[in-house]
Order: sequence, then structure tokens, then C-alpha cells
Amino acid sequence: MPSIDPIERTLSRQGHRLTGPRRAVVDTMRLLGNHFTAEEVQQALPAVGRATIFRTMKLMRELEMICQVVLDDGTIVYQLVGEDESEHHHHVICSDCGKVAEFTSDGLERLLEDVASMTGFEVGAHRIELYGQCDSCQKK
Ligand SMILES: [Zn+2]
Ligand SMILES: [Zn+2]
Ligand SMILES: [Zn+2]
Repeated sequence: MPSIDPIERTLSRQGHRLTGPRRAVVDTMRLLGNHFTAEEVQQALPAVGRATIFRTMKLMRELEMICQVVLDDGTIVYQLVGEDESEHHHHVICSDCGKVAEFTSDGLERLLEDVASMTGFEVGAHRIELYGQCDSCQKK
């Protein structure tokens, strides 16, 4: 029996099929590695429609299978999330080399719940990115 792709498994658990075009998008993201943009995926897959790529990436984002990282110049890049890492997290991004580290913080999440109750908002999502210099860039 062929081993089932973890991405395929996650999709099917959520009731989605990994159709041919979706598989092409997933394979391309794997090839591109970390920090790919939506345009790079489109350029690599001229035969797959823009809308299909857009919807596949949106779905994978909703299922927390890819993360969206906003670089400090505003560029939006994506990276595939490992199967065990697909929980809510935030990013620290190196402004010099673009290295991304991930972190989680219960304290931060509690603080944000306080902000929601203080403002009376029902907060559906939040984005927190920290920018700075990574370990190796500091040594340069
Ligand atoms: Zn991430
Ligand atoms: Zn760096
Ligand atoms: Zn958070």
C-alpha cells in the first residue's frame, strides 16, 4: 500500500479531495521550499488557473497547512507547515536574511483576549510578526 501523503491525509480528514490541480500546487510549494510567493507558484504552474491556485492556497491557509509571513517590506510569502506544527503560532523574521522563526505564547494569547474584552470586539484573527536581526546576522 502506498503511504498516504500527510497533506492529502489532512485534506481528506477535513473532507477535501486532493485533486490533480491541487496536487500540482502542493508539489510546487514543496519544490519552492520556504518563502515562496503566490506569483512564484503561478509562474511555476502556467497550466493551472490563477483562481485554482488562489483557492487552494486559501484553503490550505484556513486549514493551517501553510503559513503566511509578512516580511518587513510588506511582501507576503508562504511556507508549508510541518504536520506536527500546525497549531497557532507567530513569526520572528530577520530583516537582513529573511530567516523565519516561529513561536507560541500563552501569555500573549491571554493578553489578546483581554484586548478583545476591553474593546468589546469579537476578534476572529490576529497577526503578530516581530522583525529584527537573527543570531547569525547579529554576528556579521
Ligand atoms: Zn509559521
Ligand atoms: Zn538573519
Ligand atoms: Zn496568536
